Amino acid sequence: MKTDKGVDNKIVQFLHCAKCLKEIPKGVSPMDWARNQFGWTLKGFQIWCNRHEMNVGAFDLQGNKVGYDMTTMAEDRFTIKNRQEELKDSKLQKGEQK
Ligand SMILES: [Zn+2]
Repeated sequence: MKTDKGVDNKIVQFLHCAKCLKEIPKGVSPMDWARNQFGWTLKGFQIWCNRHEMNVGAFDLQGNKVGYDMTTMAEDRFTIKNRQEELKDSKLQKGEQK
C-alpha cells in the first residue's frame, strides 16, 4: 500500500548493529539509538554502523536483478545509478574489481 509518503514500512525484522544493541541506554528504542547508513555496493547493498564504523550486513545479490520501489526518491534514481557507476569506475581505476 502506498501513502502520500510513498511505500509503507514493510520491514518484518529489523537489522541492528550488535555493538549498538549492547550499548543502548535504558529507555531508548533501537530505532532511536541506531545510526546506520544503507547503500548500494558493487555486488548488492550494505548496512553500515556510523557509531562503530563497522559492517552491520553486506548483501550480495549474486548478479540477480531485483525489484525495488523507491517511490519517494524517484527523482534520485539517476543519481543512484550514476553513483554506482562512479564506484565501479573508481574500483576499476584502483584495480580492485574482481
Ligand atoms: Zn554500532
